[in-house]
Amino acid sequence: MRSLIFYCSDCEEYTLTPVCSSCKKPTTNPAPARFSPEDKYGKYRRMLKLEQKT
Ligand SMILES: [Zn+2]
Repeated sequence: MRSLIFYCSDCEEYTLTPVCSSCKKPTTNPAPARFSPEDKYGKYRRMLKLEQKT
């Protein structure tokens, strides 16, 4: 899956362009691979949360 999302660390905003529309500085790609393991464990975190509630 290809990500077309860029991130401006100056404005702390996500954008779809390689240049920030607010400050005109080059944006960076927030490396979406970092989010997949978190997603995987997020499922278990939610399960744990449900267990704690009951
Ligand atoms: Zn910016």
